[in-house]
Amino acid sequence: MHVVVVGAGLLGLSTAQALRDDGHDVSLVESRPGPALGTSFANAGMLSPSLTDPWNAPGIFFKMLRWLGREDAPFLLRPRAVPSLIGWGARFFWQSGRAHYEKNWTSNLRLALYSMKILDELSETHALAFDRSSAGILKVFRTPEELAVGLRQVEFLASQQVEARVLEIRDALELEPALSSAAPSLAGAIYHPIDGHGDAHLFCCALEEILAQADVQFHYGTQALSLSRERGRIIALETDRGAIEGDAFVLAAGSQSVELAASLGLRIPVRPAKGYSITLDLDGACERPGMPVVDDSLHVALTPLGERLRVAGTAEFAGYDESLTPSRVRNLLDVLGKTYPRCAERPEVSAWCGHRPLSADGVPILGATPLANLFLNTGHGPLGWTLAAGSGRLVADLIGGRASALAREPYSLERFRGIL
Ligand SMILES: Cc1cc2nc3c(=O)[nH]c(=O)nc-3n(C[C@H](O)[C@H](O)[C@H](O)COP(=O)(O)OP(=O)(O)OC[C@H]3O[C@@H](n4cnc5c(N)ncnc54)[C@H](O)[C@@H]3O)c2cc1C
Repeated sequence: MHVVVVGAGLLGLSTAQALRDDGHDVSLVESRPGPALGTSFANAGMLSPSLTDPWNAPGIFFKMLRWLGREDAPFLLRPRAVPSLIGWGARFFWQSGRAHYEKNWTSNLRLALYSMKILDELSETHALAFDRSSAGILKVFRTPEELAVGLRQVEFLASQQVEARVLEIRDALELEPALSSAAPSLAGAIYHPIDGHGDAHLFCCALEEILAQADVQFHYGTQALSLSRERGRIIALETDRGAIEGDAFVLAAGSQSVELAASLGLRIPVRPAKGYSITLDLDGACERPGMPVVDDSLHVALTPLGERLRVAGTAEFAGYDESLTPSRVRNLLDVLGKTYPRCAERPEVSAWCGHRPLSADGVPILGATPLANLFLNTGHGPLGWTLAAGSGRLVADLIGGRASALAREPYSLERFRGIL
């Protein structure tokens, strides 16, 4: 079978890899000049099954009301984005009820654990190098109220047989001595031993090399415009460089998948949630953390990636706007200063932003559509790196008519039937 995949980010490449492994011919279409130059370029790097709780947690509605108009808010809603968020936003808040939230978290957690298994196999088979570490992740809390929420999450993880350790500050310091300057301002910490981290961009570049050697056809600098259909099937992807025919088609174009699907009258409940990162070199003068530290108050992670430190997070609902808002970058510099003050003295940081493809319930949308040979792999929001390998495998299983290791329904577009 010839499968055409749109998007060479984490999800498109993972899908292409799983399809090629199954013996399909694969063409990958990407508008940018290389792999992972969209949202997969400079994320926080966390491979974090323990942190798969959806953003639409109980209480999110009132929190977002409180944060309205505040440039230092973890989630910021820009007025210009409001019209595009009305229906999606209603579903996003609806899904924040406790029962929905725990169900959605469970779906993400299962997929994340499965993804880690697939990623391990893939890394081992191909000796992929991407600054990976399995040191765990430390979540720190600045107030007792935030810590209390964290403790409830530990209970939920325990009910799913996932270990998380609540630590006194002195024990957290033993685990991550680089936090010594920040320690006096912390209310508590939770250590997640099953998590890890790695550089998503390096991973994508390594995977691309393997795929190119395996004869996957890359069409870079090629904008997918629409899909042509005939009798309930897609026959070709129309691009600015001509049509590409195939037997099956996968939309893995991040939040842009929405527009491509809309050209067929198909609605996908995914919206862009802009996030920021800054990256700096770790030199002798800087603290040298050994694992990602997540500052829960701002939804920001500080992750060591080889000889660099990345500070990433926060969300801004601003449509597809790609500009770097200085105040949002400053928020990250502030967190850096509060956490690793010596690193904050570094004069040079590179700032970046990307659009997380956020689904209305916080769970990705994988697999079938009403069109027989059109498939989706999008909506991974803040978890695309953690969920990529397993998502690619599940979508390839479906296309190849194979049984999957996980149930498909929790990730299907079909779950939104009747509410789209
Ligand atoms: C600040 C930040 C921190 C994050 N931290 C983490 C983390 O620690 N752990 C984690 O698991 N996840 C994290 N994420 C989320 C993760 O990065 C995303 O979920 C993931 O990158 C999404 O990958 P994707 O392949 O769906 O999208 P993308 O990487 O954006 O890939 C889609 C590709 O499709 C291409 N494309 C779009 N439209 C077209 C078209 N019409 N024609 C051709 N090509 C097209 C784009 O150019 C792009 O390259 C973070 C995200 C952000 C923004």
